[in-house]
Amino acid sequence: MAKVIVIGGGPAGMMAAITAAEKHKVTLIEKNDKLGKKLFITGKGRCNVTNGKDIGEFFDYIPGNSQFLYSSLYTFTNENVMNFFEKLGVKLKVERGDRVFPESDKSSDIIRALEKELIKKNVEILLNSEVEEIIENNKEISSVKLKNDKIIKGDYFIMTTGGISYPQTGSTGDGYKFAKKLGHCIIDLKPSLVPLEIEDSWVKDLQGLSLKNVELSIKNSKGKTIYSEFGEMLFTHFGISGPIVLSASRFVKEKESFHAIINLKPALNEEELDKRIQKDFAKYINKDFKNSLEDLLPKKLIDIIIKLSNIPENKKVNSITKEERKNLVNLLHNLTLKVKGLRPIAEAIVTSGGVCVKEVDPSTMKSKIINNLYFAGEVLDVDAYTGGYNIQIAFSTGYLAGTMVGEK
Ligand SMILES: Cc1cc2nc3c(=O)[nH]c(=O)nc-3n(C[C@H](O)[C@H](O)[C@H](O)COP(=O)(O)OP(=O)(O)OC[C@H]3O[C@@H](n4cnc5c(N)ncnc54)[C@H](O)[C@@H]3O)c2cc1C
Repeated sequence: MAKVIVIGGGPAGMMAAITAAEKHKVTLIEKNDKLGKKLFITGKGRCNVTNGKDIGEFFDYIPGNSQFLYSSLYTFTNENVMNFFEKLGVKLKVERGDRVFPESDKSSDIIRALEKELIKKNVEILLNSEVEEIIENNKEISSVKLKNDKIIKGDYFIMTTGGISYPQTGSTGDGYKFAKKLGHCIIDLKPSLVPLEIEDSWVKDLQGLSLKNVELSIKNSKGKTIYSEFGEMLFTHFGISGPIVLSASRFVKEKESFHAIINLKPALNEEELDKRIQKDFAKYINKDFKNSLEDLLPKKLIDIIIKLSNIPENKKVNSITKEERKNLVNLLHNLTLKVKGLRPIAEAIVTSGGVCVKEVDPSTMKSKIINNLYFAGEVLDVDAYTGGYNIQIAFSTGYLAGTMVGEK
């Protein structure tokens, strides 16, 4: 029986350890005092564990090296993930956007199921054990050295140390340093799925406001729309966040100029919105403009829209001109914000960049450089949008690495 060492106890590492334990003696090394610290905070503590869409559609939601993931996603699909947890007694439910969550809304149920399975498969779990060095000779790893100087020997090694975002969860990018030292190329690390900072100071006044069913577009300096999506977003003290903003961030590059355009009423075309406003204006005909928008907009947004509309707030609704109304329609369809930049990588949901996938065999997750090394999860240069795809990638690549470890 070969000895397999898995470095990092996130979803990729736990799944790799469970699978490898079918054939090998497995040790899982985690630097934290518990497994799955990042997994615990996923989906706002509810863990969006995968997505219910057909697996073939997953590739549309993976902007970072989706082709590399073909084998792993088809070997251990979203259906497999769902069956895996249901078999372990975790009931799941599907929500809007086909997002799959535990019925209990508790990420701890997912972690507990994985832990139980690790114990059942006799995986040795070393907590509070930080790998500090990988000891390699002639393209073969012999052991890892822990921070407490303990040496742990193995025949095969699976690196599942995660990315570099939310470092307080343990994902501090150690795997990138190890892989680089072993001769792997590391593609530039960038935040992906991260909130956007906005220059317009008025966004601060909207802090806490969440908008549903809006359309967000990102335009580059040439005015070309490079991203557009419907959904949910929110205003923060620094700018904007929420699902459609996080996905948009993948298209925003540092040092380039971008505008975020919010269509507050995407279900209505220009004519329909104008009619809707006329209806409201008829209702509030003798009121001031500032008191005429409460049926149309959330309270917090009214003051800002009034300011940006250039219509005096005390102007009587019955004296608002057609031209002013048209401008208002345009404003509601094109609330424009100047993007200042991305929030730091530490605040990103995922890291884009990582171990170069050209140097990893996609059908086994085996390193093409080090004979007895495998990679899985976010340490690789792969990343997806929100919706459960990133955890699925961690499980699929972890499963494949665990299954193939030690195979000729
Ligand atoms: C706030 C937030 C919410 C998210 N929500 C979702 C969601 O709902 N759905 C979704 O699909 N994705 C979500 N993600 C992304 C998802 O959590 C990650 O893509 C996924 O956890 C990656 O799994 P991993 O196993 O590769 O890495 P990680 O989960 O980062 O695990 C890596 C583990 O390795 C350990 N480690 C690192 N270095 C060492 C070392 N030197 N020695 C020992 N151990 C080490 C770390 O402590 C850590 O436990 C979210 C991310 C964040 C930050």
